[in-house]
Amino acid sequence: MDFTKITKISRFRDPFQNFIEIEKISEVRTDPLTGHQARILDFPIKVLEKIDLNPIIEKSKGICPFCPEIVEKVTPKFSSHLVSKDRYSRGEALCVPNAFPYDENSAVTVMTAQHYVGLTEFTHTILEDAFLCSIDYLNDLADTQKDAVYQSINWNYFPLAGGSIIHPHLQIIASSTPTSYFTSVIASVEKYMREKKRDLWEDFLDTELSLKERFISRSGGIFWSVAFAPMGAFDIVGIMENVHRPSDIRGKTMDSLITGILDILRFIDSLNMYSFNMSIYFFTNNSLFLPHIRICPRLSLPPLDTCEINYMRMLHNETLTTLKPEDICSRIGVFWET
Ligand SMILES: [Zn+2]
Repeated sequence: MDFTKITKISRFRDPFQNFIEIEKISEVRTDPLTGHQARILDFPIKVLEKIDLNPIIEKSKGICPFCPEIVEKVTPKFSSHLVSKDRYSRGEALCVPNAFPYDENSAVTVMTAQHYVGLTEFTHTILEDAFLCSIDYLNDLADTQKDAVYQSINWNYFPLAGGSIIHPHLQIIASSTPTSYFTSVIASVEKYMREKKRDLWEDFLDTELSLKERFISRSGGIFWSVAFAPMGAFDIVGIMENVHRPSDIRGKTMDSLITGILDILRFIDSLNMYSFNMSIYFFTNNSLFLPHIRICPRLSLPPLDTCEINYMRMLHNETLTTLKPEDICSRIGVFWET
């Protein structure tokens, strides 16, 4: 399998070195799973300062619809035409319809009663209850809506990642139509099969395993690696080798999923980043698609809090990062307990 990388050399005369001519080297990489292009830039890596999150947490407390004293009064109940329960709960987790739906089946899972949970404070129980609750909902609607095969469990943690509520919550979608991401992955898998008569996932796992440049671990049926062409500053991918639908995530697979997420959150925190996006993708009833998770940190750049998303991502659909995926792979190892 090819991991395509084009090296770009930019030459200019440097004002900080007496205007001598220098070269800057960047890379344009194409992800073999998605076709996504990302640029790895030769910029000095800025060490981020720890941000004081207290002001935003305090401000959010008075307006939170997910705190336990109010959540059942202000969140919707599911239609009895679609699923069998009003709401789904496991432990402290509660899955309810999204009052601002993104799709025909759009739900929110309030993960815990606690209003704010820091990156390193999430526990196995919080994540397991939140996932099980979301999976109960997805499992239930599968009986009545057989065409809702594009499913995902998503997480915006903090406003920097697009989260409008601080109280930890997941966003669940089950749709009859694919997102652009699903379309690009399915197209890659089908093209690979058509042209090479081989399974793209199998070749991807074999290649990453033999290169050992971005491979993190293989445990509980999840293959963890750092994405070759990241969709964010970095991008950790976990491919579930024996899963087809959400309800297949149990036992050792659930353990590996949760431990992996907790390890990634501790790693993000160690870099003084405090925000991330996560998606777990399922194309149910399709054996050619392997469900997988992606987690990307979100950040803004000092000193002006500059948004990491500029014209390149917004209008050219390419990611920029100064963090080499191979370096991220070697740095995340000490946080990895899976
Ligand atoms: Zn709250």
